[in-house]
This record gives sequence, structure tokens and C-alpha cells, in this order.
Amino acid sequence: MTKADTNSAVFGQLQQDLLIVGGGIMGLWAAYYAAQAGLKTLLVERGTIGSSTSGGLLGALMPHALDRWNDKKQFQFDALMSLEGEIRQVEAISGLQAGYRRSGRLVPLAKPHLRAIADEQMGSASTHWTTYFSGHRPGHYSWQTRDTPFAPDWPVASACLHGCTFDTLSARVSPRQLIAVLRAVLEQSPLVTLREHAELETLNPAEGKAVLAGGDAVHFGHSILAAGVRAFPLLDAMQPGLKPSGTAVKGQAALLQANIDPNWPILFDRGLYIVPHENGSVAIGSTSEVEFADPGSTDGKLDDLLDEACALSPLLRGAPVIERWAGLRPKAIGRDPMVGHHPEFPRLSLLTGGFKVSFGLAHRLAQSVVESLTGTSAISLPDAFRVEAHLDKMRG
Ligand SMILES: Cc1cc2nc3c(=O)[nH]c(=O)nc-3n(C[C@H](O)[C@H](O)[C@H](O)COP(=O)(O)OP(=O)(O)OC[C@H]3O[C@@H](n4cnc5c(N)ncnc54)[C@H](O)[C@@H]3O)c2cc1C
Repeated sequence: MTKADTNSAVFGQLQQDLLIVGGGIMGLWAAYYAAQAGLKTLLVERGTIGSSTSGGLLGALMPHALDRWNDKKQFQFDALMSLEGEIRQVEAISGLQAGYRRSGRLVPLAKPHLRAIADEQMGSASTHWTTYFSGHRPGHYSWQTRDTPFAPDWPVASACLHGCTFDTLSARVSPRQLIAVLRAVLEQSPLVTLREHAELETLNPAEGKAVLAGGDAVHFGHSILAAGVRAFPLLDAMQPGLKPSGTAVKGQAALLQANIDPNWPILFDRGLYIVPHENGSVAIGSTSEVEFADPGSTDGKLDDLLDEACALSPLLRGAPVIERWAGLRPKAIGRDPMVGHHPEFPRLSLLTGGFKVSFGLAHRLAQSVVESLTGTSAISLPDAFRVEAHLDKMRG
């Protein structure tokens, strides 16, 4: 019997410091930091923990391009830097492995102008990435251009007519394993209750009251909406008359048993990700579909993607497909994550809109939200991530 089950009998009577809606990567990290801050927390999940988009296959953790450095890139860089330590900590608590490895990323350069841009960016890496490490491990992570593939057919030499870039900062994690690690940690916490098959129906942040499907009421001091793509309609219902706060973008991916060395870098080529994981499995992604009939199905677009992957690395040819998968990415209006206190609802914070990069940012975004509740704000959010910035766009 899980901790979630044992709590179900008294659930309707619980008074919570914090209600978190959504048991994906965002909500789970939020619950972890809330417990560390001593908040009695109830996390409600309409399905099972990690059963939605966060239960995917890829888990690529890649920095943005180095040109035009800004506060968003700095935030992402800091998040990618701190993630490994946070994962090692939750692994130690849970005794489970998250499948994290800083294996790097290789991007083939097919055109001469791309090589010129890449050579220019090498200088930026030594500025931005090394500065961070002054006094620690200067120059440990690098962004280099090289003339040859990482290994024969990784990727195929013809894709690297003008070389490739190779960075040693990129990493990958197994999304499902990380979810399992966080779940195990939260199940050990006396302050956190995980409640599955509990769908939030209405949220009244002014009164500090939520009602779940089935009629249970939850009274809370504060709430965090981390409901992925479903956060947008919930939010829109609270603020009628504005533009929609976000949309869902479908993505399809697959997992192959390709016996690729798990140390080998991610191959990334214009939206095609090839991500080696432990045990020789390799995740391939992703389509990006604004229009779709069935959010959960895979189709010929995934077959095309697999063909592209095999063309980029013939080592994948003939590898058995272990799984085909599809999910919906939460894309907030303006494309940036939508995070922090809602200015019009003092008991509500938002934590969604991670779109294609949630796994690299979620811990730090969640930490900043919890810090703002406990008045210990050390992490500063880029202005574009704040709810105010999204509200401006929704009113515009
Ligand atoms: C094909 C594909 C590939 C991707 N690859 C990567 C990648 O390589 N790297 C990366 O960083 N990101 C990647 N992403 C994006 C990433 O998976 C998502 O951004 C992330 O999982 C979103 O997490 P979340 O916690 O915001 O949402 P979710 O994982 O959707 O979690 C929200 C949870 O809230 C629950 N919920 C919703 N409504 C309610 C309600 N009313 N009451 C209770 N519970 C509710 C849902 O059931 C869900 O479990 C990929 C996405 C796709 C589709």
C-alpha cells in the first residue's frame, strides 16, 4: 500500500499549507522543495504520478545557443549546472537511479555559414561558461567545433561536411526514472501527501479552497498550479475575457534497443534528437505538431523521424523499436515558462509552460516558487518567465 492510499481515508478533512495541482516534473520538484521548507503539502494528480507528458522517453538537457546571452540563458545555464547535484541528492535519499549522465551533445554542420557561426560561439562559451566556474573548475565544460564525427557513423560523416559542434555541458536523464526517484523521496516525507486519481475541478484562490472531482474540498494556505497543458484552461476560466494563456504542442518519440554506448553524446540536428540512454537504448524525437486529432497516438510522422535518425546514424538501422510514445508539451503564451505568484490571486502561483525544456529547468523554477512562499528568495527569475509578463501578452 502506498502512502497515497493510506491518506485517502482522511483526505477530505485535510487542511494544507500548500496544495500542488499536478504530479509531473514541475509539481514533483515543487513538492520536494516545499517539504524541505517545512510546508505541509498535498499534491493532487488526476491520473497517476508522471503519467502525462513527464512520463516520456527523451530527457535531453541541452543549453541554449551561446549567441545573444541574456538572463534567460543564464537562468537555464545555472539550472543545468545545479541539476546534477539535486539529482544526486534525491537518488541518495531514495536509493534509486535517475539515469542521469553528462554525455555531451554533437550538432552536425552541413553548411559553411553554420561553421562560421559555430566558431564564433566557441568564444562565447569560454566567456559565459568559464566565468561561472571561476574558483571552481574553470574551463571544465566546453563548446568546440571539430572536423570529424564523434565516432564512425555517430553521426554519418556526410552530415558533417563542415564539421560539427561538440559541447560537454549537455546531459540526459531518464524521465521515468527521475519521476520514480522523486516519487520515492516524497513518499518518505511526513509532510507530503500524494493523492492520485484526484482531479481538481475548481480552484478558488481568493477563499483558499479547491474542490476535487467527487466533491472533496481542500482548504489551503497557498496553491501551485503545475497541471501542464491543463493549467491553461484552468487559469483561463479564472480570468475570462483575456487571450488564452497557453496551448498544447504534440510531440511523438520512440525508444530503440540499439546497443549504443551510454557515454556517447546526444546527436541533435534541427529538431531531431538522438539520445543514448543506459542499457544501450536510444530515444528518438520529436515531432512538433500544433494541430492534431489524437494527442496520444503515433503515426507516419514518427516513422519519418525514425528514417531521418537512421540516415543521421546508420548504427540505428534495424534496431528494434521498444516503444512509440506521444505527449503534449505545455507552451505558454509568448513561449517562456509561466512561473511565480499570480498578481491578482495572492494564494496562487503558477508553474507550467516548460514547453521543450522542462526537465532542465523544473527544479530551479520550483525552488524559486517555494522560496517566494517562504520569503527566502535567492533565485531570481527572468522577467519574461513571470506571470505579469504573460498577463501583459494575454491582455495585448
Ligand atoms: C515528444 C516529447 C519530447 C520531449 N523531450 C523533452 C526533452 O528532451 N527535454 C525536456 O526537458 N523536455 C522535453 N519534453 C517536454 C517535457 O516533457 C514537458 O515540458 C514536461 O513534461 C511538462 O511537465 P509538467 O509537469 O509541466 O506537465 P505534465 O507532465 O503534463 O504534468 C502535469 C500533471 O498535472 C496533471 N493534471 C492536469 N490537470 C489536473 C487537474 N485538474 N487535477 C489534477 N491533476 C491534473 C496531469 O495529469 C499531469 O500528470 C518533451 C515533450 C514531448 C511531448
